[in-house]
Amino acid sequence: MIVLVINSGSSSLKFQLRNMESHSIMAQGNVEKIGLPMGIFTLKAGDAKTQRELQVPNHEVAVELVLQELLANAAVGLASLEEIDAIGHRIVQGGDAFNCSVLITDEVYEKIRDYGAMAPLHNPAHLKGVDACKVLMPGKPQVAVFDTAFHQTMAPEAYTYGLPKHYAQAHRIRRYGAHGTSHKYVANRVASLMGKPIESLKLITCHLGNGSSITAVKHGQVVDTSMGFTPHEGMIMGTRCGDIDATAVLYLMQKEQIDAADMDRILNKESGLLGVSAYSSDLRDIEAAIAEGNSDAKLARDIFIHRAKKYIGSYMAEMNGVDAIVFTAGIGENSKDARADICANMEFFGIAIDAEKNNVRGEERAIHVDGSRVQVWVVPTNEELSIAEDVVRVVAQL
Ligand code: ADP
Repeated sequence: MIVLVINSGSSSLKFQLRNMESHSIMAQGNVEKIGLPMGIFTLKAGDAKTQRELQVPNHEVAVELVLQELLANAAVGLASLEEIDAIGHRIVQGGDAFNCSVLITDEVYEKIRDYGAMAPLHNPAHLKGVDACKVLMPGKPQVAVFDTAFHQTMAPEAYTYGLPKHYAQAHRIRRYGAHGTSHKYVANRVASLMGKPIESLKLITCHLGNGSSITAVKHGQVVDTSMGFTPHEGMIMGTRCGDIDATAVLYLMQKEQIDAADMDRILNKESGLLGVSAYSSDLRDIEAAIAEGNSDAKLARDIFIHRAKKYIGSYMAEMNGVDAIVFTAGIGENSKDARADICANMEFFGIAIDAEKNNVRGEERAIHVDGSRVQVWVVPTNEELSIAEDVVRVVAQL
């Protein structure tokens, strides 16, 4: 079965074409700057990479371009569009309507549109990708894979905020979480690497990238996650503030006469590592600045480490222990220093990592000391594979 995975954003569209029988990536790439005067198209197939600039006025043109190029590039090995069996779309917000991936019917489409109010930058863009595929590959099954679905097992006490009930209900304000596809993938993957059924394990999965979230997975089910109503809550991130006293936000708005749209921008785009360091949102830059004695950069990184420890500690309390902690995404997979600092001084909990084993980047590896009560792993995430596997499952049930 050949699956096209699409992650359609407001001005970009990432894609991957996977052959599920041979477990191979036939091609991958992206279209950037959709709707701007000049777009960029990139495609990798095998060892060959092509990139060119051209005008891409909208998502339909972007999908058309992707399909044309997939056919035209001999390295992809696609003879006709008929060979593509199904399409999987990453959807950021599925609210409380979806706890698993589903075929995109008219009803599902409307729900995704409806939840767009809560993810205005994402859901409408995803639907543009769905629309374009419908026009260009009519009749092909399209599957929605939600970032929120894996987190739907949380209990009310984990997902409910202390707001008046009528407001929370009227506006569907609750914790939904995000990065669910990644947390689900690494949780299942680490269970199989440990040789144990996920139903027997308590796991804490740390997706630490430009966006970061930490999730407690007990016996295969999410019991808590750090992102909330939106992907703003929780960890300090590249440009997102994360946890903050809500009244501090109101206070700042009053003092500086900031309106809601500007405050949203400040919290999501100008805060986090970037805001605290006044230097960069990228941890590599932050680490380089620390080496040169930049104390603001050091504080930004210290907050990141502190908050990760705080979430890991609270999730151990919620689950009455943990069998394994998993690190994934840009920082989790690549920064041995971040992993070492997060896991430092946690011997009390039976967590100790081995400096030599921890000297790894982007590879699946156990990094705990021999005999450690809690295992610690690096597991590179693979959201596209996870999406494609869900597509296979959903299509098999049709
Ligand atoms: P996104 O959330 O945009 O998908 P990524 O998962 O790609 O982000 O993570 C980007 C983050 O990973 C950046 O902060 C980057 O500095 C960090 N990162 C990547 N490689 C390294 C490294 N070798 N050491 C430290 N941080 C790294």
